[in-house]
Amino acid sequence: MPTGCLHLVATPIGNLLDLTSRTRDVLAQVDLIACEDTRVTQKLLNHIGLKKNTLSYREENERELARELADKISKGENIALVSDAGFPAISDPGFRLVRECRSRNLRVIPVPGPNAAITALSASGLPTDSFFFGGFLQAKTSARKKFFSEHKDAGHTIILYESRYRILKLLDDLMEVLGEERCICVAREITKIHETFNSGPAKIVREKVKNESQKGEFVVIVAKDGYQL
Ligand code: SAM
Repeated sequence: MPTGCLHLVATPIGNLLDLTSRTRDVLAQVDLIACEDTRVTQKLLNHIGLKKNTLSYREENERELARELADKISKGENIALVSDAGFPAISDPGFRLVRECRSRNLRVIPVPGPNAAITALSASGLPTDSFFFGGFLQAKTSARKKFFSEHKDAGHTIILYESRYRILKLLDDLMEVLGEERCICVAREITKIHETFNSGPAKIVREKVKNESQKGEFVVIVAKDGYQL
């Protein structure tokens, strides 16, 4: 392993068997693992039988720690950055550290793995040729409707993240602006026991989501206008 690198390591989004052997090797070899929630990462490390030094790198301390970690890397340390699930820096902390390393010409090595957005898109049945990743929309209805209005006639698929608490509200806001017939996919608990994909007109999908359990994590995919399954 080269010295003085940031390893950007993706981790499973539910199924621990999705962890690759390269991921294990990298985590085994680095000097320090910066992670979002040390308890979550500890579970992963226990699963793969590793004992490692971890440090909490969260949204609240990201600014300050990005500089400190980049200092360590520039002195030759190898640091891995992981988040609770999926890719670090994608709707998760990480961007500031990557930027800090790139601005100092430090080596950043991606170690790819699962990601909720791409996994959901690929299995949705909605067009995959051109898409826009919107991450989490703001909680306010007015902001969400503005977002949908701006993307109403866009010729691409849209991918959004949402929590269990706001999923139905998001679908209501979506239907109000894009209409009840807009083709969408709601993917829940991908790679986990209760994995569910519902694709079709928004009105029908919303009804299914309402009638099923809303426990867990959601990805919402929205097709361009006129697309039908
Ligand atoms: N960094 C992660 C990635 O690469 O996908 C995303 C982290 S973001 C804080 C968490 C959100 O991702 C969840 O609220 C949900 O929208 C989505 N997500 C993560 N895991 C998921 C899963 N197993 N099934 C469905 N959605 C998931």
